[in-house]
Amino acid sequence: MDRRVVLVTGGSRGIGRAVCLLMGRRGCAVAVNFASDETRAGGVVDELAGAGSPAVALRADVSKADEAAALVDGVVERLGRLDVVVNSAGIERSGFLIMTSPREWEDVMDVNLRGVFNVTKAALPHMMDARAGAVVNVASLAGVTGLAGGVPYSASKGGVIAFTRALAKEVAPFGIRVNAVAPGMVETDMTAAMKEADRKRYEEMIPMGRFAEAAEVAEVVAFLASPAASYVTGETVVVGGGLP
Ligand code: NAP
Repeated sequence: MDRRVVLVTGGSRGIGRAVCLLMGRRGCAVAVNFASDETRAGGVVDELAGAGSPAVALRADVSKADEAAALVDGVVERLGRLDVVVNSAGIERSGFLIMTSPREWEDVMDVNLRGVFNVTKAALPHMMDARAGAVVNVASLAGVTGLAGGVPYSASKGGVIAFTRALAKEVAPFGIRVNAVAPGMVETDMTAAMKEADRKRYEEMIPMGRFAEAAEVAEVVAFLASPAASYVTGETVVVGGGLP
């Protein structure tokens, strides 16, 4: 990659962080978005800068349209342009549907689905002007297969997959590609609090017998964002260690 400018939402931790570090190593300038953990985001920027990659940390709650728009403006102002958006910011709330409050439903939808809408909508005019660009959304295997105890999460990620497919068709004439990854279980803060028995059960279900490292997901994201995937759009690549 030449010095393309990449915005990674939720870049302070987990999969987003791994994407920031890999894209930096591949020669991109990186905007590391975070919601609240400025220290972690600053750590990612320091790591990137130490390796010679231009990087900035930008706070924004992606569920808010005005903050998402200001985030994209901030990237263009600080790094000069915007070529790639990786929508990785996401939250999960476990619990059976009959016990799920409307507020919990909204929280998950607002970050996971509305956040993708907000950031992508704000970024597209820059890519349309350039007649080039790539969006990679971090969906989830839950959005493909459905997850008991995670109906809002599954619905939000199924929405992201349909969003990806539909938007890809809409913006292909502008030279913009839109793809998604659907990871299974990944070693991040999101899965760290899982009970040991649940973890064992998942490991037994996964043909490869283990959770993914965030870096393994980042490799697929980086491929979809790169010119190597120039004829791939509207796809969702499962990174599931053999699942589903
Ligand atoms: P994580 O380690 O919990 O990190 C979440 C990231 O999202 C953090 O950078 C956090 O920022 C950011 N974030 C949360 N709410 C935000 C908001 N409203 N606005 C902006 N940023 C926000 O999560 P992860 O496991 O890396 O997950 C990344 C993505 O992969 C998510 O979309 C998740 O659904 C998906 N995924 C994860 C797994 C898994 O097993 N881990 C599997 C499939 C899919 P702060 O640091 O500031 O809080």
